[in-house]
Amino acid sequence: MKTSLVALVTALCLTPAALAAPAVAADKSGDGWPAFRALYEELVETNTQHSDGSCTLAAERMATRLKAAGYSDADLHLYAPADAPKDGLLVATLHGTDKTAKGILLLAHIDVVEARRSDWVRDPYTLIEEDGYFYGRGTTDDKAQAAIFVDTLIRYKQEGYTPRKSIKVALTCGEETEGVFNGARYLANERKDWIDADFAINEGASGELDASGKRVAMNIEAAQKVYQDFTLTATNSGGHSSRPRPDNAIYAMADALKKVQAYRFPVMLNDANRAYFTRTAKLKGGEIGAAMSAIVANPEDAAAEATLSNEPNLNATLRTTCVATLIDGGHAHNALPQSVTANVNCRIFPGVPVETVQAGLIAAINDPTVKVETDGHRSPATPTPKMPPEILGPIEKVSADIYPGVPVIPVMTLGATDSIHTSAAGIPSYGFRGMFVDPDGGNAHGLNERIQVQSVVDGRRLFYKLIKIYAGGK
Ligand SMILES: [Zn+2]
Repeated sequence: MKTSLVALVTALCLTPAALAAPAVAADKSGDGWPAFRALYEELVETNTQHSDGSCTLAAERMATRLKAAGYSDADLHLYAPADAPKDGLLVATLHGTDKTAKGILLLAHIDVVEARRSDWVRDPYTLIEEDGYFYGRGTTDDKAQAAIFVDTLIRYKQEGYTPRKSIKVALTCGEETEGVFNGARYLANERKDWIDADFAINEGASGELDASGKRVAMNIEAAQKVYQDFTLTATNSGGHSSRPRPDNAIYAMADALKKVQAYRFPVMLNDANRAYFTRTAKLKGGEIGAAMSAIVANPEDAAAEATLSNEPNLNATLRTTCVATLIDGGHAHNALPQSVTANVNCRIFPGVPVETVQAGLIAAINDPTVKVETDGHRSPATPTPKMPPEILGPIEKVSADIYPGVPVIPVMTLGATDSIHTSAAGIPSYGFRGMFVDPDGGNAHGLNERIQVQSVVDGRRLFYKLIKIYAGGK
């Protein structure tokens, strides 16, 4: 997942302390745990960072394991672009009996954020199990889910399970790095035939642990805001700094950014944040809980809006947000500035066109000398998401079994994942990690990334059951 606010904050806080992890209760031997652990270990220990790693090698290693379990070459698609031979991908399919059904896509990226050995306490590319935790780069983001998906296909094949709907696992590269080959985008645009499905499950929202390690909510991403950068450019004729004039490119930019800071996009509700506020209101209670219920009842409720807007996470769940993140300008100490540029990063509410946000910024700034343009990178438009019962129902059922008493909460995530490519290609995509991560996100993207062993044990049990419910058959 590209850096969301949480990851950014954690990355800055060096090595947040791990929670006291629960002793691993579940019997790890009965259901093939050793085979899973060996697969997970091989995946984590295959360096797949963009600078010097190889997703292609990781994909080939997973293909070897699937073949050993009985998958044929026809069931497996290994692909690497000629101009990026290390950025390869794998699509593996357990074919279903119902040829009219498109199937289920299980998407996971196998590339990881850079990790330097000298910065880490332990080797980032050795899977280390310590004090109830797995440590290593990608143990949370996103190799636990990738390993569970491959392991589940292997178990299904070994037990002779034949689904009604085909089950497709896509392991892709390029999710963590801008501007490189992105396997999910390639599959969505060039080889949709390999991955086409009725819906997709991808990384996104996770199970939430509180500061004491208590399991408080199992979140499912019902919607994802769209990442979009805008470039603001203020120009001026400049001149000698000994004769300053009221008009000045830096002042124009400063005024423009203050207006961006003050501007609030309208409150919007969709299936995702409506369900999130409704279910979380009960958990939260108090003023915040009351405001959550009020905003669902009446999106025009100004008092509820004010209460929720004061909390950054809730404010970002209510609306499109835009914020200045970079600025650059002026060309000499003794000259009036001629050009200043700033980057404004927006997280757009799903279904809202980029042009609408651009128009909102232009209206708020209201200064024709300040141009507002997209930075040439345009996120694909995403359809307004739905959270149908046939998706949510099975998750609630299995989650109640594996995580009794923990509510399932649809959320709108603020970070970006590869679901943006699959949903833009018409495959409704749900971000569901199915595993609990520490409040700091297991320090994904940061130092000493980790995940509780028990979380992986339970996540593996959950997906084994959940995918069978979705796929049917026997
Ligand atoms: Zn990720």
